[in-house]
Amino acid sequence: MRPAPLLVAIALVPALVGRAAAYVRTTTSTGTPVEWRGRCAELNLGAEQHPDFRHDRLRPLLERAIGNWSQPTDACTALSLTLVAGERARLRPMRDHLNTISWRLPGHCDDPAHHEDEVCEAPQAAAVTTVFYIDKPGDPNDGELLEVDVVINAAHNQFTDGDGGPDGALDLESVVTHELGHVLGLTHTCYTSSGRPAPQDELAARIPNCFPSISLPSAVTEATMYNFISPGETFSRDPLENEVEGICAIYADHPGTCRGEPAGCGCRSGRFGAGLVLPLLLASLLLVLRRKPCKRPS
Ligand SMILES: [Zn+2]
Repeated sequence: MRPAPLLVAIALVPALVGRAAAYVRTTTSTGTPVEWRGRCAELNLGAEQHPDFRHDRLRPLLERAIGNWSQPTDACTALSLTLVAGERARLRPMRDHLNTISWRLPGHCDDPAHHEDEVCEAPQAAAVTTVFYIDKPGDPNDGELLEVDVVINAAHNQFTDGDGGPDGALDLESVVTHELGHVLGLTHTCYTSSGRPAPQDELAARIPNCFPSISLPSAVTEATMYNFISPGETFSRDPLENEVEGICAIYADHPGTCRGEPAGCGCRSGRFGAGLVLPLLLASLLLVLRRKPCKRPS
């Protein structure tokens, strides 16, 4: 089962403009919020290394991005993100019981075998997070988050950690912090095109269309979970207060001890656990917005 980008559309909801935006959660097809329920949220780092971000440089950056979420929520929830020691040799987002973060390196999409990979089909994405969760209405496990896979799109982007970097480079800590928001169950603060109904925020208000962006309130465009990032922007490193409150609200009762996969689970064929619960996929794109100078009509 190959992950597919989810692109959605909705008309702008004028009532949202002018008030603080609430956090927005990823939901199942029937609206159940997606969340970790007792599982450990551990991230495995892919073995492949970016030449400018060897693991000894990348790991501290990933730890900072994790801290951007875990430090402000440490007092309100037992849920924590952990970067697992060691690296894993795997490349494709797939349901394999491993939460991963890995690179798509320059030249990746030149190989015809990779043309259907997520960043090759969405070259405008800075990164793509694939979320596996249970989508079975009426089942007690409906909405349970099972696995996440994050890929960083260095096939089409250059990155910086804030210490120099090439022109047009994206702030990698900002990108990863945004993707970790998806890992925790949040989704974007505005809507792009799709056939699905508009998501609602936790106050049951429809979130706005991303376009025209000039109509969006700052609470949408300055959120860590805003859909777009431009070179030089670093505000995504710091989740807004309402985004932190969202993680606290979602995971206030999260147990302090983690459980593993259900006994007998052999999910590689697509079925999960002893029942007939199917893990579905949601791929979330953080899009790169490269602003061009305005041209006035002559
Ligand atoms: Zn995103």
